Amino acid sequence: MAKKLLGKDVAQHMQETLEEKIAALEARGVTPTLALVRVGARGDDMAYERSAIKRMDALGIRVRQVILDADASQQALETAVAALSDDPDVHGVMIFQPLPAPLSAEPLKAILDPRKDVDGMSPVNMAKVFSGDPSAMAPCTPQAVIEILDDYGIDLIGKRVTVVGRSMVVGRPLAMLLLERHATVTICHTKTDALMARCREAEVLVAACGRANMIGADMVGDGAIVIDVGINVGADGKLCGDVDFAAVEPVASAITPVPGGVGSVTTSVLAKHVVEAAAVLNGVTIDT
Ligand code: NDP
Repeated sequence: MAKKLLGKDVAQHMQETLEEKIAALEARGVTPTLALVRVGARGDDMAYERSAIKRMDALGIRVRQVILDADASQQALETAVAALSDDPDVHGVMIFQPLPAPLSAEPLKAILDPRKDVDGMSPVNMAKVFSGDPSAMAPCTPQAVIEILDDYGIDLIGKRVTVVGRSMVVGRPLAMLLLERHATVTICHTKTDALMARCREAEVLVAACGRANMIGADMVGDGAIVIDVGINVGADGKLCGDVDFAAVEPVASAITPVPGGVGSVTTSVLAKHVVEAAAVLNGVTIDT
């Protein structure tokens, strides 16, 4: 039976560390502040918004909600993001994506101050992630995977790690973060030959392919550590991951559940990034 790697425990440890950093900022008159920019009223966005606000409230991070109508113009969105980027009282800005058509996030990546880019969308942060710059703010989800591995003391040096998925929000940045931890990383995608073999040989297998229950027991090596990034709605209407948890748990040595795994750590990473940004923007040195 595999050990369950629980996101709530990781989030709790991160919260304890963050509380100290926030107190240090408060002592200097800085209240870390996050702006959440939502266009329209998508259910997914609103659910994440609620959970982000809950996490920030628990930590004493101020939240400013900026909500635009689903039919807002590109100009209105860009103006809103530019105002937040220039506002000295705002330290982090997260823009819910995907944006409703025909809006484009591309121009926003250049408008947003990279120091406030707490979900790692800007080319500046992505370049830092790819070059191994420690000042990078990576997208929250891949960073959440790293936080879980770190919290459970999973050593990555020299390990064979396979990441299934190569998107710019999860697979690719995650592969770079793992490489920075000296893992030997294989990135798989829909054109990968012998996907099963690439997965089976992994000591740490990360599923980020967006296919409900795709990773079965036959794709997992004995005793592998399995991290499931996927969030899907299964045939039974319930939330499930990209890993078939019931089938894989007996084979793996450790596994993240869905829900309760990676997804429960992303808002803590968001909070961590807001705190780091508040420190940088105010010239305060805190060790995060
Ligand atoms: P994308 O759809 O953008 O990317 C999926 C990737 O998986 C692609 O690179 C694709 O390959 C690859 N892939 C898809 N099917 C297969 C297959 N059959 N075999 C091999 N590779 C495959 O998804 P995201 O990266 O945005 O998200 C991945 C998962 O993570 C989703 O389940 C999503 O819901 C979840 N997620 C979870 C978050 C969290 O907080 N836990 C946050 C963000 C996402 P190719 O490039 O060739 O098309």
